[in-house]
Amino acid sequence: MENINENKSAPSNFIKNIVIEDLQEGRVKEIYTRFPPEPNGYLHIGHAKSICLNFELADEFKGKTNLRFDDTNPVKEDTEYVDSIMEDVRWLGFEWDALFYASDYFEEMYNRAVLLIKKGKAYVCDLTAEQTRELRGTLTEPGKDSPYRNRTVEENLDLFARMRAGEFKDGARVLRAKIDMASANITLRDPVIYRITHAHHHRTGDAWCIYPMYDFAHPLSDAIEGITHSVCTLEFEDHRPMYDWVIEQCEMETKTRQYEFARLNITNTIMSKRYLKLLVDEGVVSGWDDPRMPTISGMRRRGYTAEAIRNFCREIGVAKANSIIDERNLEFFIREDLKMKAPRTMAVLDPIKVVITNYPEGQIEWLDAEVNAENPEMGMRPIPFSREIYIEREDFMENPPSKYFRLFPGNEVRLKHAYFILCNEMIKNEQGEVIELHCTYDPATKSGSGFNARKVKGTIHWVEASNAVPAQLRLLEPLLLEETDNKDKPLVERINPNSMQVVNGYIEPNMKDAQAGDKFQFFRHGYFCVDKEQGNDDMLVFNRIVSLKSSFDAKKA
Ligand code: ATP
Ligand code: MG
Repeated sequence: MENINENKSAPSNFIKNIVIEDLQEGRVKEIYTRFPPEPNGYLHIGHAKSICLNFELADEFKGKTNLRFDDTNPVKEDTEYVDSIMEDVRWLGFEWDALFYASDYFEEMYNRAVLLIKKGKAYVCDLTAEQTRELRGTLTEPGKDSPYRNRTVEENLDLFARMRAGEFKDGARVLRAKIDMASANITLRDPVIYRITHAHHHRTGDAWCIYPMYDFAHPLSDAIEGITHSVCTLEFEDHRPMYDWVIEQCEMETKTRQYEFARLNITNTIMSKRYLKLLVDEGVVSGWDDPRMPTISGMRRRGYTAEAIRNFCREIGVAKANSIIDERNLEFFIREDLKMKAPRTMAVLDPIKVVITNYPEGQIEWLDAEVNAENPEMGMRPIPFSREIYIEREDFMENPPSKYFRLFPGNEVRLKHAYFILCNEMIKNEQGEVIELHCTYDPATKSGSGFNARKVKGTIHWVEASNAVPAQLRLLEPLLLEETDNKDKPLVERINPNSMQVVNGYIEPNMKDAQAGDKFQFFRHGYFCVDKEQGNDDMLVFNRIVSLKSSFDAKKA
């Protein structure tokens, strides 16, 4: 097939198969997709799935993709969201062929609605929302006709023009498609296609006081842009007959078609702009880009990479039935991507001081260590060593159980990149807590010296005390307590109160000039990213991107 972009091949999926068939059979000459967000919030990882699918599908078959803002609901929309969405799509690594707004087509949509009226396929209805609902029927009962259903074309044209002119209040009248009140598909029971909303629109200002509904605006926007494959999520499956009806009855040239795939859900993750906005508005998180948020901006701030997110979206595939993906899946791709890229370094999160009593006072020795043992191209880094260092409190036990190979009185361990040390003495405070350890080191055991006269079982990390840089470290957990987002429960009961634990620790001095967004692997603690915020005295703040192994057990939390 000539349209194929050989080096862009993604795993097979049912939508891709449809595309291949359409191209092979000549139904479509060039693939044209779109990503159509409503600018009423920031994008989340679910949107990333849709972005990757739409852009990669077109890319693979040398087609095009538009970014289209579905801005038909002025009350909830804002340019702040428009800007963030563009930034996020680009950050993910995609560039749209054209940028449009559904509001670009308001005039054209209006004209198509007039066409429907003229064909006797739409009417102005004066029922209240409540009355409309009552007459709509249920899954088992057909609906009943609105008393306004048989208005004349002239009367409908006049009323619709006056709706546009602003003669009526919000909700006083609507324009409805005249389809079938007895249809088994409720979305076909004379759906509303225009409503009156006297609200300022972020682009069209006060030019309009009637706005098209999604079911009318979406197919028209797709057709106007020449979209060939309109990919959306499963909840719109029932709307497909309406989509087709609009294309047909409005006499649109492009016979665009809608295909539905399963929404991405991830365990312990809220996946809805409405609820994410609630978290922001209620102050549960610091903003849309809080590093715990499943938004693209939150993930970026936390240190997730675009490449990892793209790989995740590609590898989980495109499903036809809803399911929940384990969050560990995403974490796997983050680790995979950072493994070779992130410099490795040591950080002590809960420090206890160690004095190396046989090391000369005042002496600093600079040791050489790889920046990333798995990626030698990243070179070497200097690490200071001296008589006083910090180690992790949990790497010492006064009365260790068997199989504890770290530091305890009388035991010897390896200090990563440095020497073996032997623990001789513990210093306690009045409460009996250990506050300092006295050890001796063996100069013959220097890392890289080839020493093998005796072995130790434990290796621990450390930071030299006089050069250590204090840092704030945020340990993050999922925002949701339960695996699934049970919306029947109040939000407060769903939120994990321990989603962010803040500790003060020490990091190696080579990191002191790290910039926001820089990512590191802290020995044994996982991957961390420098936050845009700083603590007191310009202290660096790090967010844990992901631990080295998955440890959070959702069911036990
Ligand atoms: P939300 O419910 O979070 O507000 P939405 O569907 O209302 O999401 P839109 O801005 O209307 O958000 O969506 C833009 C596109 O992203 C749509 O095509 C939608 O189907 C898709 N999308 C939204 N959420 C997901 C998800 N969880 N998985 C896959 N695609 C999604
Ligand atoms: Mg929506």
